[in-house]
Amino acid sequence: MNDAVASRMIIIGGGPAGYTAALYGARARLEPICIEGYAAGGQIARSGQIDNFPGFPGGIAGADLGERIRTQAMDFGAVMRTEEVESVDLTGPTFRVATADHEYEAESVIVATGAQPRRLDMPSEDEYEGRGVCYCAICDGPFFAGQRVVVVGGGDAAVEEAIALSNIASSVVLVHRRREFRASATSLAALGSTAKIRVHTPAVVSEILGEELGVTGVRVRDLDTGTESVLPADGVFVAIGHDPANGLFTKWLDIDDYGYLRATAGSTATRIPGVFVAGDIADPRYRQAITASASGCAAAIDAERWLVGRRGAQAMAARGAMVDVDARNTGLGAEQLSTDEEKAAQASA
Ligand code: NDP
Repeated sequence: MNDAVASRMIIIGGGPAGYTAALYGARARLEPICIEGYAAGGQIARSGQIDNFPGFPGGIAGADLGERIRTQAMDFGAVMRTEEVESVDLTGPTFRVATADHEYEAESVIVATGAQPRRLDMPSEDEYEGRGVCYCAICDGPFFAGQRVVVVGGGDAAVEEAIALSNIASSVVLVHRRREFRASATSLAALGSTAKIRVHTPAVVSEILGEELGVTGVRVRDLDTGTESVLPADGVFVAIGHDPANGLFTKWLDIDDYGYLRATAGSTATRIPGVFVAGDIADPRYRQAITASASGCAAAIDAERWLVGRRGAQAMAARGAMVDVDARNTGLGAEQLSTDEEKAAQASA
């Protein structure tokens, strides 16, 4: 292991949230280090075309979008490290982040590790991913205008995706393995009043069928009778939940029932001053590239203000003034600090 690399801001995660945090951190002269993992770009790198990221009329390939934000951050001095974080120590005040080859020390940490959509775990799913197998109706639904789609799952996400797709596709079949749905009463009421959606329960998709150009249907097994049938389909939306990449942080940060990291309301701060969250790891609701980028921006701004506040507080403490450093993580920003400093300066003048 080499000597520890010191940084004011370490960002863990190389998707739109992490790269955007790196861009903002770099422009604020915080010389951020972004440990991006080995699958740089995160989920968008696996997406085909992205048509809903503002500023790209005609769309952009997901991998290109990730690479552009990454390059933009590096242009301002962000350092990218293509390695996996293996452990973190968020005891503070200096945070420690370790990979197989390096140890990092940071004054602030932004966690942007993302959330992976759960998979049906069958070879045909891998084979047709990006050729009809999708994990996000908002992202990919418009590619199926006037076509037949199958949605798999029984939670809010599956029901909402089915309803959203019913406005686009010619037909929607919702396949769920139980008769009861986990989705909220409101979602189920909306489902019940959407005539275009046919519900097939209890049933599982046992195989995704296709040909060179993509999906042509799904083989469905009815769990009551055991019989199999083929549903013709052009697209399959798998909406069976997400797994937030929280493994390194369960010991340190607050986590909700679904594994998402919790931020302080209205902020990206966590219960550990100096540790912030961005992107899908803390977002069970929107999970879009643009919302991930936006929260990466917010986390970098929150971290910058916290760092400025802490430095100022330390400077004032050195001058004998009393300052509640942690208060700066719960709302008081740099603006307030300068006011305090001015007051202190006036008082001592
Ligand atoms: P959920 O965990 O709520 O639901 C997952 C669904 O997928 C369940 O019905 C589950 O079946 C099914 N499932 C899981 N694994 C498989 C499998 N291998 N094969 C077939 N089916 C499977 O996930 P969601 O993504 O729907 O929601 C996550 C959280 O986000 C929830 O709290 C939800 O309320 C929230 N959410 C809120 C929204 C909103 O407020 N607008 C929108 C979307 C989500 P089973 O029921 O049998 O376990």
